[in-house]
Amino acid sequence: MTSKCWVGFNLAPPIGLYRLKNYLEKNELKCDILDFDIDSEQSYLQRVSEGDYDVIGMSVTHLNMKDDLDTLLRFRDAARRSAKKCIFIAGGHEATLNYKQWLESGMVDIIFLGFAEDALSAFCVKLSFNETNGNHLEIAHEIAGVVFYKSDGKLVYKSSPRLTSEKFRQLSFNNIKSAIPYDKYWQKVRDDKIDGFNHTEFIVETVRLYTSSHCPRKCGFCSSQSFLPESQKSVAPILMLSAEDVYELVLYHIDKYGARGFLFSDDDFPVGNREGIVRILNFSKLIVNAKNSGRIPKEVKFFCQSRIADFLDQKNVRWNVIEAMKNAGFDNTGLGIETFSDKLLKSPFINKIGVTTNDYRIVLDALLEKGIIPIIFLIVGIPDGTVEEQIETMYVAMEYIRKGADVSVLARLRANPGSPVYSLGGYDISTTTWKNPYTGTEIVINDYFIPKNEELSRIVGMIQETTESVINNIKIQRGWDKNIVPKSLVGIATFIATAKLLHRDAAANDFTRTINDILDEKIH
Ligand code: SF4
Repeated sequence: MTSKCWVGFNLAPPIGLYRLKNYLEKNELKCDILDFDIDSEQSYLQRVSEGDYDVIGMSVTHLNMKDDLDTLLRFRDAARRSAKKCIFIAGGHEATLNYKQWLESGMVDIIFLGFAEDALSAFCVKLSFNETNGNHLEIAHEIAGVVFYKSDGKLVYKSSPRLTSEKFRQLSFNNIKSAIPYDKYWQKVRDDKIDGFNHTEFIVETVRLYTSSHCPRKCGFCSSQSFLPESQKSVAPILMLSAEDVYELVLYHIDKYGARGFLFSDDDFPVGNREGIVRILNFSKLIVNAKNSGRIPKEVKFFCQSRIADFLDQKNVRWNVIEAMKNAGFDNTGLGIETFSDKLLKSPFINKIGVTTNDYRIVLDALLEKGIIPIIFLIVGIPDGTVEEQIETMYVAMEYIRKGADVSVLARLRANPGSPVYSLGGYDISTTTWKNPYTGTEIVINDYFIPKNEELSRIVGMIQETTESVINNIKIQRGWDKNIVPKSLVGIATFIATAKLLHRDAAANDFTRTINDILDEKIH
C-alpha cells in the first residue's frame, strides 16, 4: 500500500509499487496494490480480516510517519481478526534509511532494503512453500536485503546485493512494461484539477518513468543520495537506461496507453556527467526524428528534473542541450534552487556545490529565452537563514514567476533520516510522538529543523496552516470547487503566508498582486 501523504498531492500510479507487483506476478505470486488516492481502505481492511493476505506491506514515508503508523495499526487490528498469521513489511527510502524506528514501532516485522524486488520475491516464494513451518523470521534469515529483530531482541541487518546495470535495466525497463491502470488515474485528474495557473501546460495523460538509479550529489537536506549506497553498504555508481531504452519506453506508453506527456521522475534526468549529457542529446534526437516521421504525435511533451550545473560547461551555457531538449518537447524542467542567497547555498543544510546565484540567473534566463519553463524548487525557513534572506529569495522567485517560471515551495526544512545534516547536531528539531497502544512504546519522530533566527523560528510551524487559509480564500474568491490546486499557486500562497506571519505587509501585497495578475491574465 502507499502512504496516505501523497493523497491528492501527486495523483499518479505509484510506479515503485507497480514495478514490485509486476515482478512478484512474474514469479506467480498474487499481489494487489492499495492506493489511497483511488481505492477504499475499508474494502481492504475487510479483505485482510477475512484472511485474504499473507504479507501486507507499505511504502512508508517520514513526512507522514505518524499517519502511516496509524494506518498500519488499523491493518494489524484487521489481521488479528482473521485466522491467518499476517506478516507486516515496509520498504522504500524511509524504511531503508530509518529502519530502526519502524521496527521499534512494533507495526513492521521486516524491512526490505533498497531495490527490494528480488528479496521480497524470494521471501514470498519461500513463505508460500511454507519452508520453515510459518516462521517468517527464519525465512528472512536466508535472504539478502532485509532488516528485522529476532525473537531474542537482536537486530539482524543483511545488506542488499550490489545493484548491477543488468538488474537495474531488468527492473526499470523490462519490468515496467505491464498493466498499470492509467485510465483510472487520468479520469480522476480530469475530475479534480483546476486549470489555468501554472505557466507549465498540464497534460492529464502523463506517465512517470524512472531512468536512473539515484543522484550522487551531497545536498545537505536531501536523503535521495543515501538510499542505494546505504541499502548495499557500499559506494554505488550511477546506473542509467540508454537513450534507446528510454525512447522505447516512450513508444510503448504512447502505443499502449495513449500517453501524451512523460514525467521523468529521476532526481536529475540529465545526470550531470558526460554520459548523461550524451544520453539526453541522443534521446532528444530520437524523439525529434520520431515526431518528424509521424511515429509519435507532435504534441507529446516531456518533463524532467535537472540541476543548474547540467546546463553549464565551465560557466558557459550548454545551449546545445537546452535547444535539443526544447526541440524534443521538453517544455519545462524542475530545478532544485532552494534559495537565492549565496551564503545559504554554502550552508550545511543546502550545500549546493559549485554553483552560485549568478549561475542560477544565467541558466534560468537561458531556459526562458529558449522557451523551457523552469520550475523553481525553493525551501522556506532554512535553519541558518535570516528574515532578509528569506524575503530576498521570495522576491527573486517572484521576479522569475513574472518572467514565466513556476515555483514549488517547501514550507520548512524537513529532518530527513539519511540526509547529511540529519546527524549534524546543534540545531533544534521539532518532533511529534506516536504511541503503540498495545505495548506502550513511544516513538519520537523528527519532523523539521527549527530556524536559529527568532522570527523565523516563531513562524515556521504556522506557515503551512496559513498557506492553506490563503488558498481557501482564493478558492472562495474565484469560485473553485476542485481539489488539485496548481503547485505554483500553492508556492506563491506560501510566500504570502510567510510574509504575513513576518508582518511584511508590503511583500504580502506584492505577492498577492502577482497571483491576481496571473489569474486575471494580466501577465503571460
Ligand atoms: S537535492 Fe537534488 S541534486 Fe541535491 S542530492 Fe538531492 S536529488 Fe541530488
